[in-house]
Amino acid sequence: MRKIGGHVSIAGGLSKAIENILKIDGSCLQIFAGSPRVWLRQPFAENEVYTFLDGINQYRLGPVFIHALYLVNLASLNQNIFEKSVNSLVIDMTNGARIHSAGVIIHIGSHLGAGFDSVKDQLIVSIQRILAETEGCDLILENAAGQNGKIGSLEELSFLINKVNSPRLKVCLDTAHLFAAGIDLRQTNSVSKLINDLKQFNLLSKLVCLHLNDCASDLGSHRDLHANIGEGKIGLEGLKLFINQKEFQNLPLILEVPGDNKQGPDLKNIILVKGF
Ligand SMILES: [Zn+2]
Ligand SMILES: [Zn+2]
Repeated sequence: MRKIGGHVSIAGGLSKAIENILKIDGSCLQIFAGSPRVWLRQPFAENEVYTFLDGINQYRLGPVFIHALYLVNLASLNQNIFEKSVNSLVIDMTNGARIHSAGVIIHIGSHLGAGFDSVKDQLIVSIQRILAETEGCDLILENAAGQNGKIGSLEELSFLINKVNSPRLKVCLDTAHLFAAGIDLRQTNSVSKLINDLKQFNLLSKLVCLHLNDCASDLGSHRDLHANIGEGKIGLEGLKLFINQKEFQNLPLILEVPGDNKQGPDLKNIILVKGF
């Protein structure tokens, strides 16, 4: 059975994630290992880890992904932000290893118009450093919609994956970001081209997770705006076409949709995807 789940809150404690994912009938999950909007990161408390893992085993949940905080920018030329980015990721990765996470998913960051070439060496060095300072948890690069110099086109992911060349460096593709980046997931031929590109770029074997989101913004708009499943521009048929490609069949699906009440992925969205 394919793993279908969503991003859930840990407000009130790590083990709340178990309750929250069961409530929406998900079988895999993603969490923030702290607030996504503040730098502060702390190790999970021992008893929380224990209760969490107990729930994971009892309900056969997983994989568990951690999403890094949104402030991370590994391409920042501001030394303070850069150091905070690396340090927060090291703590997320360390927490990830403790809860047997399949990896920490990151938005690489933005070159803020300076161009990928001007920051690529810094990216390679910082990714290598994060991997060297941690163990037992993978680092997962997510594709970007491309707004404001955001790094994460297939070419850029491929460059970083191949340069760093670590078995612990993986890839996550977000359907809303792909669509906003200009890849029309509603068309069979552009999905086939995407799969060919992934093979060519050496990314297909690195793919460990799909973020399944409909897209509220237009094709090629480069705007990262998630919509509920079937309520965006990709639509039910497009999302269905995408996830049922044989190359993607075994990948866990994580929803990061707003939900009907803007509380995040809900049962209704999960049920729709299960029907695919
Ligand atoms: Zn995503
Ligand atoms: Zn997004």
